[in-house]
Amino acid sequence: FKMTDYCSKCGEKLKEDALFCANCGEKVPNKQNRFSNKHILIILIIFVILAIFLSATFLLNQTQTVKVDNVEFEIPADYVSEPLRTDVNYDGNVKSSAMGWSNKDNYIEIGVTRTPGKGINSQKVAEDLGGTPTKMYGYTGYYLEYENEGYAFVFGIKDEVCMVYVSNYDVFDDIKVVGAV
Ligand SMILES: [Zn+2]
Repeated sequence: FKMTDYCSKCGEKLKEDALFCANCGEKVPNKQNRFSNKHILIILIIFVILAIFLSATFLLNQTQTVKVDNVEFEIPADYVSEPLRTDVNYDGNVKSSAMGWSNKDNYIEIGVTRTPGKGINSQKVAEDLGGTPTKMYGYTGYYLEYENEGYAFVFGIKDEVCMVYVSNYDVFDDIKVVGAV
């Protein structure tokens, strides 16, 4: 890339690659370098903005799929499994599984109960547990509030009774019920 330049001070035609004007001694700005440095800076700024935007979007939408017995759920990625709240009971008729996860602010516990083979009237069990009839996650179920402790939604998927317990009401929104698999 070559181009003829003229001195910005005296207007003299400059020699190719001249650092100073041969006529007046004015320093010739290195335009090509300035141009590319500016370009690199703009590209870097765009890249940084894009990286911040993408990582923020990525972090905000990041989820993990968890499975409690036969049922899959999606919960935020920052929740870590609580070993103490992982429990499976099977007495030959009823299989009951419960798992817990926590992040720095909140706690999630999901329990799934079923009668393997025989089937269970999950809607009836949910109804028997009581609470306020509510529709959540596309399922008709029952909403329960535990005084100063948390909130739960109990519902049935096929022959599974599911109970989603959260320490903060807003956490309900972060959970997605994938379904029985
Ligand atoms: Zn000059």
